[in-house]
Amino acid sequence: MELRYMGTGAAEGIPATFCACPVCKEAARRGGREIRTRSQALLDGKLLFDFPPDTYAHYLTHRFDLPAIERVLITHSHMDHFFPQEFELRGGDFVHDPPPLLHIYGNDKVEQVLMAALPQGGEASSYRFVFHLLKPFERIDAGGYLVTPLLARHDPSEACLFYLVEQGDTALLYAHDTGIFPAETWDFLRSAKPRLGLASLDCTTAAFKEGNNHMGLPDVVLVREKLLEMGLAGGNTAFVLNHFSHNGGLLHRELCEKVRDLGFTVAWDGLSMVF
Ligand SMILES: [Zn+2]
Ligand SMILES: [Zn+2]
Ligand SMILES: [Zn+2]
Repeated sequence: MELRYMGTGAAEGIPATFCACPVCKEAARRGGREIRTRSQALLDGKLLFDFPPDTYAHYLTHRFDLPAIERVLITHSHMDHFFPQEFELRGGDFVHDPPPLLHIYGNDKVEQVLMAALPQGGEASSYRFVFHLLKPFERIDAGGYLVTPLLARHDPSEACLFYLVEQGDTALLYAHDTGIFPAETWDFLRSAKPRLGLASLDCTTAAFKEGNNHMGLPDVVLVREKLLEMGLAGGNTAFVLNHFSHNGGLLHRELCEKVRDLGFTVAWDGLSMVF
């Protein structure tokens, strides 16, 4: 499998939309890997993770075939992961030659904000999409990938999800806006025993410990150790850190320095991982 990171920032991006703190100023000055749009990734050119407001910019920058995408897994309803106003553009005069049916997967809150974003009385069929309501730990087949939504410890007002995606003898854990995983999720992983080729972990708070809403370096070190101890990860597992905020206080170059001996790769907009 190949995972392309198209956006690697938290809600506000880096530089943050309206911020002039030292991190944002320096990121804007340096450009390149210091610029982080809102988090979105693409598996094998066809399975999208999340649909942030930067999706259109990712389409232009990373040249993936957005009109042909048939499946998108949404983690939760926060604006940096789901920008449903864009889906109106799948109907009416906004599109010629109707695109293929888009399968949108997510929790009940995602469904609510999606339907509320359509023009009044709008129906999914007019916009060539179908919504699939996911339940934590109930595995589905999404275009040949076995996908299990896992429960995150993030915003308690909704069932925030993250994803285990299995194909053949390898698996991807795409885990952002998770906090340290709750007990039910560890129990599931212990019994499912996926062989992780890639574990993509939340590192929103960078150097700072967090664990309840997001994660920082002290938290991802614990999660990595636990995945290794449980035998879900091994010498061939890539660990990637992703979804960074300026509140973590570190530039990409500084993060790379900090994790040099910890066994992590620091994501950037454009990173491709093959596993
Ligand atoms: Zn987020
Ligand atoms: Zn800032
Ligand atoms: Zn969130």
